[in-house]
Amino acid sequence: MTTLERIKQLKKEKNAVILAHYYVDDDVQEAADYVGDSYYLSKAAASAEADVIVFCGVSFMGESAKILNPGKTVLMPDAAADCPMAHMADIEKIKKCKEEYDDLAVVCYINSTALLKTYSDVCVTSANAMDVVRALPNRHIYFIPDANLGQFIASKLPDKHFIFNDGYCHVHKDITAADIQNAKEAHPDALVLIHPECTPDAVALADYAGSTTGIINYASASSCSEFIICTETGVFKELKDKNPEKGFYPVHGHQCCTDMKLITLEKVARALERMEHPVEMDEETRRKAARPLERMLELAQ
Ligand code: SF4
Repeated sequence: MTTLERIKQLKKEKNAVILAHYYVDDDVQEAADYVGDSYYLSKAAASAEADVIVFCGVSFMGESAKILNPGKTVLMPDAAADCPMAHMADIEKIKKCKEEYDDLAVVCYINSTALLKTYSDVCVTSANAMDVVRALPNRHIYFIPDANLGQFIASKLPDKHFIFNDGYCHVHKDITAADIQNAKEAHPDALVLIHPECTPDAVALADYAGSTTGIINYASASSCSEFIICTETGVFKELKDKNPEKGFYPVHGHQCCTDMKLITLEKVARALERMEHPVEMDEETRRKAARPLERMLELAQ
């Protein structure tokens, strides 16, 4: 029996569903029931009917699934798969900011730990951040943890006053403006599509900036046939599946999230077999972290 066949059998036996982020390896995406970006997967997790959710992604994703589904078992195929940026905000700084501004909203990118979410008023994803922040009554926004996404949203919402944090995604930060210039010289007819976790000077060179789903939709709807893709290269699977006739180029050879790539088919099968690496959190943390996630799902409607 192949690993994929084993996974299918185990899914039936355990009444499990598999969620996978676009950044995991192609074979893992193929084994999943739902593949998407953080926003899509948070909605899929919120409405999951299975008893067991296997989350093929990094730990904050599994935590979010558990927060939204306290009664279900959420399994992580590799417990070490973690997003460094998810930890890059300081609770003391959040408290200080709250003291300084009366009407402050702490807006927390979903790429954050459950603990950081408990100190936040609302969560956002790169796909819905603009709509959610625009819908907030607050003028002062403390955006955690990602500085680059915060600056991107701030540039679109001039009526709000943003305070930025200094977190970043190393994968997107490493896609520099100079790299993009080089890629444009190599592919002069290609459009540049970028994720807003990249730095503002890199975003300024792009023809389109948006979430991974936004990038896929833009490339699919475009009459252009070549694209330079400035995000993690796991997204190339969906881009090529949807647009086999179009050309997609990375900016350089290391647009790779090593944490996402820890997830393998073998680990998915093992997690299901042994019910390994369940996400656990105390009820108070879960309840407090649920509020900003649920508010995001409401405001993004
Ligand atoms: S790509 Fe960046 S933001 Fe996404 S999980 Fe990896 S390190 Fe975190």
